[in-house]
Amino acid sequence: MQCPICGAPETKVIDSRLAMDGEQVRRRRECLSCGERFTTYEAVELMLPRVVKSDGNREKFDEDKIRRGLVKALEKRPVASEAIEKVIHRIAKDLMAEGIREVPSSRIGELLMDALRELDQVAYVRFASVYRSFQDVNAFREEIERLMKATKS
Ligand SMILES: [Zn+2]
Repeated sequence: MQCPICGAPETKVIDSRLAMDGEQVRRRRECLSCGERFTTYEAVELMLPRVVKSDGNREKFDEDKIRRGLVKALEKRPVASEAIEKVIHRIAKDLMAEGIREVPSSRIGELLMDALRELDQVAYVRFASVYRSFQDVNAFREEIERLMKATKS
């Protein structure tokens, strides 16, 4: 890396440590020419996949859209907003870790339903009813029946 002060091409690393909970590497460097010291940060570049909608159009992975859906499903439910952020973070992280370029929107819907099922059953049913109503009425009814049985026992 070239020196930002004098522009000399040679600098050396004099210290290297993890930052941001291990998500970044912070390096102290020293210019071999002018002796100035400076800091650089290195982070892995992770890309979120494009979302392929059911009509075939692509759009960018939109955290806000996901957040709005979750907030709506969790309205008046005893779930902290940190839990919502955790769900969004986990889904984004899992998708990035897969290294895929595109993901069908239906898959994101499934991931959200899985997360809600663990978080809050009422919110899960709300979300599933909106999400699944037109494509899979029977599966939804079975799920409700299963949930009711589970609650009784
Ligand atoms: Zn320099």
